[in-house]
Amino acid sequence: MKIERRINKINMPQICPFCKSRNISLYLGGYLGKLYKCGSCNYVGPVIIEMSEEDYRKLMEEEEKSNRSQQVD
Ligand SMILES: [Zn+2]
Repeated sequence: MKIERRINKINMPQICPFCKSRNISLYLGGYLGKLYKCGSCNYVGPVIIEMSEEDYRKLMEEEEKSNRSQQVD
């Protein structure tokens, strides 16, 4: 029986830690590290969120819920 290894290196969406946008692009990359830039809020920095497509969907759902509950009050 042949067991195929799952490929771990799927393309993870990169997400802005501030506005949760996926509008992230590599701003600078080199030996010292990488800087990313968010096209939505103009954030530039080394920190981005990487998560699976599914986790991102969940995150967006949570965001929507919390937005709604804020409006209810
Ligand atoms: Zn952003």
